[in-house]
Amino acid sequence: MYAIANKNVTSMPELNWKFDNSYARLPEAFFSRLEPAPAKEPNLVIFNHSLASEMGLDAENIPESKLAELFVGNTLPKGATPIAQAYAGHQFGHFTVLGDGRALVLGEHIAPDGLRYDIQFKGSGRTPYSRGGDGRAAIGPMLREYIISEAMAALGVPTTRSLAVVTTGEPVYRENILQGAILTRVAKSHLRVGTFEYAAYRRDLQGLSNLVDYAIDRHFSRFNSKENSALLLLKGVMESQIGLVVNWLRVGFIHGVMNTDNMTISGETIDYGPCAFMDVYDPQTAFSSVDHGRRYAFGNQPIITRWNLVRFAEALLPLIHSDVDKAVNIAEEHISAFDNIFKSQWTSMMQKKLGFFGENPEDVAIAEDFLSWMQTNKADYTNTFRLLCAGSPPMEGEHIDSAFADWYARWEARRIQQSETIDESLKLMRKNNPAYIPRNHKVEDALNLASEKGDLTLLHSLLNVIADPYIERNEHESYTAPHPPDYGRYQTFCGT
Ligand code: AMP
Ligand code: MG
Repeated sequence: MYAIANKNVTSMPELNWKFDNSYARLPEAFFSRLEPAPAKEPNLVIFNHSLASEMGLDAENIPESKLAELFVGNTLPKGATPIAQAYAGHQFGHFTVLGDGRALVLGEHIAPDGLRYDIQFKGSGRTPYSRGGDGRAAIGPMLREYIISEAMAALGVPTTRSLAVVTTGEPVYRENILQGAILTRVAKSHLRVGTFEYAAYRRDLQGLSNLVDYAIDRHFSRFNSKENSALLLLKGVMESQIGLVVNWLRVGFIHGVMNTDNMTISGETIDYGPCAFMDVYDPQTAFSSVDHGRRYAFGNQPIITRWNLVRFAEALLPLIHSDVDKAVNIAEEHISAFDNIFKSQWTSMMQKKLGFFGENPEDVAIAEDFLSWMQTNKADYTNTFRLLCAGSPPMEGEHIDSAFADWYARWEARRIQQSETIDESLKLMRKNNPAYIPRNHKVEDALNLASEKGDLTLLHSLLNVIADPYIERNEHESYTAPHPPDYGRYQTFCGT
């Protein structure tokens, strides 16, 4: 059963919540109203004070026990009306009707600067969309999402954020018995490609049309145009998702489960289940234990983004044209822009990583040859790019082979041709090539200590390092080392 009773409500004037619930004004089929399951013994594990203050929340003087009650859902803020959202999705290529099976959106907080943030509890109990699941989440995966999403934010990659993790005091039964926990997630919205697929699946043209207008109003109102709204939205989403995947490629991020229900309309990274950062450069890298076919491997992410956008366009067809053949032609024409937009954004991203200003017909080849060299030599993606930022050719190690030397000479020649100084070029590179990423073994060490011993020392050290990923610091050197040689194959799990 899921909880539908009325909760204690607090105005929490100290926190400064200002809730609206615009999504709940959509047709009722898009959500179910319900309350978070009560938690026996909430305990605050971590709270993101800097994010809170960015959002205009004033949490500094609130005792931890009160924050725990609030961020476990035992006390609801004034104006919150929790809902589980309905959606569908293509999971590993197959269409399924889904919905928030273990999450509730409390509503939208309007920050003092006018920005609107969805506030979501993840792990808050069963919902009408839970299917066979228990609606719960365990502490490890929730802290993992906290670490990686905050790292992504600091890296400058669009992402949902993590505001708090609270343990519930109740066990969660997986392979082992684990501590239950709730993550408070903050997002520009939780509209997904799958939300539109759900509306199309219901054959509710009015609902679909309302949803399109809602999404444009919320995310693409700057595109003030007379064009067909569905096409306007398709264009906007295509741009934002291409921008996102190019950022993933820049920092070596592998999402791991790019199902259409996990792809936001806003272009924020969402659902940090089996994701991980690549160490050795290999486009075939996939860490997820369930991704047997490497569908969501590092180098496949652009193709999958496009595939997902085709599913998005299919959902919008009835609004594109009443004649289905015409609608398909128009949609295909729009989607065909993907390759050029992607290529141009990817090239510009690589130019920045390599310290190039302006355009040069050689740039793509220089970038691709560097990647090939890394792949052949099993070089670390992050460290090898960062090595170039040192400003002088490497004198030792794997980088002194002749293929590298030849490539280095081409790269230098290209940089000497441009009118900007070498210092300017290095500056550009240092802003686009992180020195620190949340390395898999560091993340696991931090999570093991936190979930098994309740000791957050490693977790806070890691958060501290990744909060400023572009500035090298001697005392953080151990965070640049790839995993130890005997580490074995790294595998990730969906965290349900
Ligand atoms: P995800 O892989 O996290 O995107 O989840 C896919 C679907 O499964 C979503 O609809 C989730 O809400 C649902 N789900 C995941 N874990 C659970 C759980 N423990 N209980 C109920 N539903 C879940
Ligand atoms: Mg999901």
